[in-house]
Amino acid sequence: MNADEVNILTKRALRADIESLRKIVNFLSQYNVPIAKFAIYSIIYQFAMNNVIDLGKECETCGGKCCKAGYPVPVYDYDFKEMKKNIKNLRLEKKNGFYLLPRPCQFQKGWICTINSFKPYACLSYPFATEDEQEDLLKSYDGNGVPDFRVPEFCIAGKKVKEFMNKIMEDLRKEKGREPTPTELLEKIISLYERKG
Ligand code: SF4
Ligand code: SF4
Repeated sequence: MNADEVNILTKRALRADIESLRKIVNFLSQYNVPIAKFAIYSIIYQFAMNNVIDLGKECETCGGKCCKAGYPVPVYDYDFKEMKKNIKNLRLEKKNGFYLLPRPCQFQKGWICTINSFKPYACLSYPFATEDEQEDLLKSYDGNGVPDFRVPEFCIAGKKVKEFMNKIMEDLRKEKGREPTPTELLEKIISLYERKG
């Protein structure tokens, strides 16, 4: 798989396509290196954030700060094509191989994203699977256990996800009497998603 194929598969996974989720985790599991393990945990955490844990209240209280300030959001060609299907007059500046969506984002109304069902990969990945937030941590990650993901102080939704996932890991440790594998964590999160309906 090339980088775009990996990103497109991850994007589908983050949008609750379970087959894609298992496929991308299996693909990354072949590589026994810290960066691949880090990516697996990032995807599992982000999947839980997007699809398992109810965070509407937290994001409303925060007011949508992640879309208001910061570097422009990268929009890859595959994101742009999808957005263009829905926004006929979409025009974005292109730099270094990808389009840029400046913040504050033109698609935010109040705290809500008005293009939620076709927002770019980078938005679906915030904050656990974004390079901006996790770059330093990734450099020091040695492949042992769940990374202590960085979440900005203002991101109360991300903090709630970390607490939720810590509890899930604790329960799995008790149940198994050892450190759970990333795949065991993944299957637990999928079962919670399916139970949610
Ligand atoms: S994801 Fe975090 S930063 Fe973004 S709106 Fe929700 S709480 Fe705020
Ligand atoms: S596209 Fe949506 S999620 Fe992404 S920055 Fe804009 S408002 Fe936020």
